[in-house]
Amino acid sequence: MDVFGLIGNPVGHSVSPPMHEAAYERLGVDARYVTFEPSEDALERAIEGADALGIDGLNVTIPFKERAANAVVPDPLADRIGAVNTIDFDGEPTGYNTDAAGLVRAFEHRDVSLSGSAVVVGAGGAGRAAAFALAEEGVSVHVANRTVERAESLAGELPGATAGGLPELGERLAGADLLVNATSVGMDADETPVPKAALHPDLAVLDAVYTPPETRLLREARSVGATAIEGVWMLLFQGVEAFEIWTGRAAPVDAMRDALEAAL
Ligand code: NAP
Repeated sequence: MDVFGLIGNPVGHSVSPPMHEAAYERLGVDARYVTFEPSEDALERAIEGADALGIDGLNVTIPFKERAANAVVPDPLADRIGAVNTIDFDGEPTGYNTDAAGLVRAFEHRDVSLSGSAVVVGAGGAGRAAAFALAEEGVSVHVANRTVERAESLAGELPGATAGGLPELGERLAGADLLVNATSVGMDADETPVPKAALHPDLAVLDAVYTPPETRLLREARSVGATAIEGVWMLLFQGVEAFEIWTGRAAPVDAMRDALEAAL
């Protein structure tokens, strides 16, 4: 039996176990997906222990994603992002950032062409993954963040990227093709970091926030005729990507999607 899992603190809320186990069940993979909650100072020992025990793969979540990038060999994109959320223990423990891949695959799933220019709102973990993923695809990226210095610092790591604050979002979005909300705004209240007047029909808008599934930003995007992509698709495809890295098989996306919806 293969063993996969999630390491984070806390992990009690996670929807990854049912999503991955639905995939094992659908494909008849003899595997289990379990959660681990080590104390904050035990990450490195936990990863070494997992490797020694023969655990096949781990997802990594808050607060460990950044430190995990130093505890394994990150692939080039995860290395640039500075965060790992998937570890493959086949051979030397290798780290991937499947949040980045999940974002790209969520856009592709809706047939959105990843070209032109994007505005990424947010410069935390999700903002970094989004900005690097889109830049990697050849999209020209503008990072907007409440704390402008953080946006500038992130944009400074991406060739040709620009940075600014939230007040000039309207100007920045006028000619943009893609918009990603990578802030937590919209999660706890019916709020949006982007004024409705800045949205337009030529935009594809992905909101990384996945609870609630339909945020105010997505509602307003839809109302102006923009393409609206729920954060659950990014969450789904980061899991799909991890499954495919670990098993080398095409993931049963529909089964994983159904399990995720039922769990959220
Ligand atoms: P994080 O590292 O803590 O970053 C939070 C970001 O939100 C920062 O840019 C912060 O700006 C901004 N922010 C927070 N409160 C704000 C406010 N009131 N007004 C304007 N900006 C505000 O968090 P994260 O890990 O990047 O996660 C961000 C969101 O993405 C969360 O909702 C998370 O659940 C979601 N997420 C989704 C997926 C997915 O698969 N769908 C994956 C990862 C994360 P400052 O820098 O100014 O503080």
